[in-house]
Amino acid sequence: MEIKKQLSKTLKQKPDFSNLGFGKYFTDHMFMMDYSGEKGWHDPRIIPFGYIPIHPASTVFHYGAEIFEGLKAYKTAEGYQMFRPFENAKRMNNSAERLCLPELKEEDFVQAITELINIDYSWIPDVEGASLYIRPFMYGNDESLGVHAVHNATFAVILSPVGSYYAEGLNPVKITIESEDVRTVRGGTGYAKCGGNYAASLRAGQRASEKGFSQVLWLDGVERKYIEEVGSMNVMFKIGGEIVTPKLTGSVLPGITRKSCIEILKDWGYTVHERLLSVDELIESAENGSLEEAWGTGTAAVVSPIGHLSYKGKDHVISGNKIGALTQKLYDELTGIQWGKKPDERGWCLKVKV
Ligand SMILES: *Cc1c(COP(=O)(O)O)cnc(C)c1O
Repeated sequence: MEIKKQLSKTLKQKPDFSNLGFGKYFTDHMFMMDYSGEKGWHDPRIIPFGYIPIHPASTVFHYGAEIFEGLKAYKTAEGYQMFRPFENAKRMNNSAERLCLPELKEEDFVQAITELINIDYSWIPDVEGASLYIRPFMYGNDESLGVHAVHNATFAVILSPVGSYYAEGLNPVKITIESEDVRTVRGGTGYAKCGGNYAASLRAGQRASEKGFSQVLWLDGVERKYIEEVGSMNVMFKIGGEIVTPKLTGSVLPGITRKSCIEILKDWGYTVHERLLSVDELIESAENGSLEEAWGTGTAAVVSPIGHLSYKGKDHVISGNKIGALTQKLYDELTGIQWGKKPDERGWCLKVKV
């Protein structure tokens, strides 16, 4: 793919890299490429970061034709590295297939990101715990109100320097089990990374936050019985010395951090069960003391310890509301690989010299 480049004449002033937060600042450039039924993908370009003009009848506004990805680039001595970017490319195509958006060559997905970062390289923060968050996304933009599979689409990539998720260290979060709203159902779009799933999840998240919880634990949408995910992370439990994580039933998002944690845990000799886990079994394990640790996994937070679990008005404390030993070890291992401080024995990182 040959990418046209139109560089920005004026560069922005960079924010303070030691106080970035999440997703608040954007780099000087962005990548865009258009799709039409006749031409396929065409006009790949890097242009100054800015507003996108979209037709008011565009499919994305009315029928929610939108998917996205999230991954990070980490500064290294020679340049930077990305964590398993081809996994994101594959998942984006699975999401595209579900929403009838056009698929994209995996190499083009990674090339678009790499050439964009090479231009905005100075935006990768070199502060402990900080990284460059990469947000690829795709939307349908047929200029018509007819309901049908998308004929025109745009793929874009924007970049945002982000701080450590844990400004004050790895503090356990308080979670409430949601028994009213559901995020998605089997047969729906749960396994696709699409904006619509987030729209459906906001109300429960907001209610939880008003009650002092930082996330909700989702139950399956059919029986309202099985644990699915926590907020926008996958979830894992250490019960009686073994690891249990919800299996990918179609309504659970197949996280790359989840997949990586499972591989690492198995390499460390743990038994990892990917299976249905009912909320009753989980609460029972919390009450009889066999629930030793619980954590969420995702690109933004990497590994996030859970210290409180609330269900039907009852609060259960996990691991004494402290980060568990295994949760901490997993966090250290993954972040060590991602920042290039630990050997990347599984060949997960794509290293780029700049
Ligand atoms: C992105 C996402 C995850 C985590 O996936 P990673 O690939 O590990 O970042 C989990 N759940 C939902 C709903 C997500 O959107």
